[in-house]
Amino acid sequence: MDLLDAGEGEPYASFHCNGSRPAVVVPGVNGRRRYEFMLLPGEDEATMVSADSIRALVGEYQDVERLRVRRAAVYTAQQRLASRWREGRVLLAGDAAHLMPPFAGQGLNAGLRDAAAAAWRVAEAVHGRVGEALMDSYEAERKPHAAEMVRLSKRIGAVVMSTNPLVCALRDAAIPALGVAPRVKAWLTTMKFLRQPRYHRGLAVPVVPDVPGHAADLLGRALPQPDVVPAEGGAVVKLDDVLGRGFAWLAVAGPGELSVTRPGHAPVMVRTVAGTVDPGILDAAVGHELLVRPDRYVAAVVPIGARRSAYTSLADALPGLADQFAVPSGSHLLGVTS
Ligand SMILES: Cc1cc2nc3c(=O)[nH]c(=O)nc-3n(C[C@H](O)[C@H](O)[C@H](O)COP(=O)(O)OP(=O)(O)OC[C@H]3O[C@@H](n4cnc5c(N)ncnc54)[C@H](O)[C@@H]3O)c2cc1C
Repeated sequence: MDLLDAGEGEPYASFHCNGSRPAVVVPGVNGRRRYEFMLLPGEDEATMVSADSIRALVGEYQDVERLRVRRAAVYTAQQRLASRWREGRVLLAGDAAHLMPPFAGQGLNAGLRDAAAAAWRVAEAVHGRVGEALMDSYEAERKPHAAEMVRLSKRIGAVVMSTNPLVCALRDAAIPALGVAPRVKAWLTTMKFLRQPRYHRGLAVPVVPDVPGHAADLLGRALPQPDVVPAEGGAVVKLDDVLGRGFAWLAVAGPGELSVTRPGHAPVMVRTVAGTVDPGILDAAVGHELLVRPDRYVAAVVPIGARRSAYTSLADALPGLADQFAVPSGSHLLGVTS
């Protein structure tokens, strides 16, 4: 249930693993707060969303004198994964492709990742630049991570929502014990166990053996977003602003020295600068070029000057990629886009 004007509360989401009526409390914007209560066997939907029930449930956590309920609904937690995510011209995304209980907070996140992975592929298809392999790589990339999030959400639910006395006793002993080690506690409380997707088996070029491990490790990962300035001086912008919206090659010429090539344009040199992201974050790839996809995942890591190998590897999926990067005669150096 979502409450309005819920007053001051904890600024973070909390799981109340009480073994009798497990609950989750999530702060929202502008004084909103969401409560999630597990229904027990025999409780029915209509009764549980009545004003009296809501008062009784929420009253355990806050003052209910001036309760304002925006909405209350009963959901059934599901763990489902579509067996196929593509049928011809149709791609499945979001809850249509995967359903998971909300305990890891990953349902919408997974859907947004699907949308980001599907959108640029559809755009390429509209421009007639794709092979079947590109559309098939959507499921190859997204399904494994979505499946992992479904499994993880279910496991978290089994721990935090348990009403089994033995499971509760074990959990209540184990979690505080794990918290004794600050690193383990931080790992738990900041949900570091949620692994970021790595698309190195979808639209990605296998790295050749002479690319060192720390550079190769960037393959399939979301590109970091340091602040940059044009090499010849100018305003600080985000790397994304220089990369544009389509594919781009990003060469790491030296520590903090990047060269960005967008389709049909000559390279633009920029320098990374201190900001919210470590300016040396891409230095692991000095001497290499990264092929950055429109969704900002890294599709290839090759030695500088070896783009051709990536074009060859991606020819089935993106037959026109090399042509996109052919520099037209009479082109000039681009400034940084704003
Ligand atoms: C209690 C709860 C808490 C959650 N908490 C989190 C969280 O903290 N973090 C998180 O990431 N996710 C969370 N989720 C999950 C998240 O809400 C969903 O994953 C997300 O809303 C799914 O978005 P969607 O667009 O894929 O599907 P939906 O939101 O279901 O949208 C589908 C839309 O399609 C419409 N539609 C259906 N059939 C048709 C049709 N035939 N023609 C036209 N339109 C149609 C529907 O009306 C609906 O508007 C939570 C879910 C619940 C229930």
